[in-house]
Amino acid sequence: MEFDTIAAISTPSGEGAIAIVRLSGPEAIGIADKLFRAPGGKKLATQATHTIHYGHLADPWTEEVVEEVMVSFMKAPKTFTREDVIEINCHGGIVSVNRVLALVLRAGARLAEPGEFTKRAFLNGRIDLSQAEAVMDLIRAKTDRAMDVALNQMEGRLSKLIGTLRQALLESIAQMEVNIDYPEYDDVEEMTRPIMLEKAQWVRSEIEKLLQTSSQGKILREGLSTVIVGRPNVGKSSLLNSLVQENKAIVTEIAGTTRDIIEEYVNVRGVPLRLVDTAGIRETEDIVERIGVERSRKVLKEADLILYVLNYSEALTAEDELLFEAVKDMDYIVVINKTDLPKNIDLDQVQELAGDKMLVTTSLIEEEGIDQLEEAIAELFFEGQIEAGDMTYVSNARHIALLHQAHQTISDAIEAADMDVPVDMIQIDVTRTWEILGEIIGDTADDGLLNQLFSQFCLGK
Ligand code: GDP
Ligand code: ZN
Repeated sequence: MEFDTIAAISTPSGEGAIAIVRLSGPEAIGIADKLFRAPGGKKLATQATHTIHYGHLADPWTEEVVEEVMVSFMKAPKTFTREDVIEINCHGGIVSVNRVLALVLRAGARLAEPGEFTKRAFLNGRIDLSQAEAVMDLIRAKTDRAMDVALNQMEGRLSKLIGTLRQALLESIAQMEVNIDYPEYDDVEEMTRPIMLEKAQWVRSEIEKLLQTSSQGKILREGLSTVIVGRPNVGKSSLLNSLVQENKAIVTEIAGTTRDIIEEYVNVRGVPLRLVDTAGIRETEDIVERIGVERSRKVLKEADLILYVLNYSEALTAEDELLFEAVKDMDYIVVINKTDLPKNIDLDQVQELAGDKMLVTTSLIEEEGIDQLEEAIAELFFEGQIEAGDMTYVSNARHIALLHQAHQTISDAIEAADMDVPVDMIQIDVTRTWEILGEIIGDTADDGLLNQLFSQFCLGK
């Protein structure tokens, strides 16, 4: 495939000590040599690949020196895109990096579209589609665990597993092919069904295992949407503040996206909590009061986790009981706060209302109980056994949707085989499953899908 040469700023916008302008394509080295002035006058094209060079960038039309730079020079094919790649490291600052980019564009490069570098890596066969998507997840990863999941995927764990499943399907398609070609041999027919069934059932159970990881995977990716509720004055803001202070707030600067809801991310023992509408809670003390009962019910419904705060030193009120009613089918943890004050709450009654949900007691003012609360959150989420590091998770919505489809078609095949449907009919479902799984790794994906996927990337990746 023939490509032009693309360029973009590949470091996040904003401050930073160093900014990088990256070029990729057949003209990358030529363009860099037009602009780059090394102390000895050497050209990059004559240098060894994968080397870094100090010098200045000059405007080739005026010879005016524009910037002091370090240039990394990498010849194809051992590069991220498998094309010639030049990375120009310049001093941070929006002005200087944009000046370098403008110069590179004037010298013949085209401004890259979002995700275009990764798209090239994919189109040039360096990575498969699920790996390309993992690059995007990495850029957005919110906790170390989320990073692990994306890294695993980028290393091709999911691809490998999908490849194995497709291989098994291919083998059973081949077996059915024999059967269809030699219908007169009864023993072939006899062998085909059990072999086909066994493989199909194995594939289905592997798909099911993958799908079971998807809710954790999705949460690792997007954050566990968390709402703090409770009567006024029980300590909601205090709880929010201690969660934010105790835990590294997660920076979620994603180039080119704006969020209309204000959210705060914190990393609680590897679980990214997305504290929803926290600004509202902060400002007006009471989410229900601020956004109205209807909307707050909706916010509650959409939450993955509710932290329900009660006051240890006050008896339960009718309002408390109403809130128990509102959250009853959801994942929530009861936080009984202000244990430093005299006890006036009936804990047995709370336990009865809460059923099997976890209760944690805290004194936020004395910084007690926060550890136990964090433990409870992690336990609820990971059920104390899952380690992101050694599992293949699916977290990507597109992969999950495709796995659901594949699960359906392979189930159809299994059912058909059980019902003595002719083998060539079963083969259709098995082949379809093979195709759907192929879409996950981009084997059978079409152009429209590719464009849409890659356009979600940040510029410069
Ligand atoms: P919210 O209205 O539910 O958001 O409650 P706040 O977090 O604003 O807290 C209300 C009041 O309770 C503030 O004066 C807090 O300092 C106080 N408070 C919060 N946690 C505790 C605690 O554990 N013990 C005591 N004694 N006071 C607390
Ligand atoms: Zn408050």
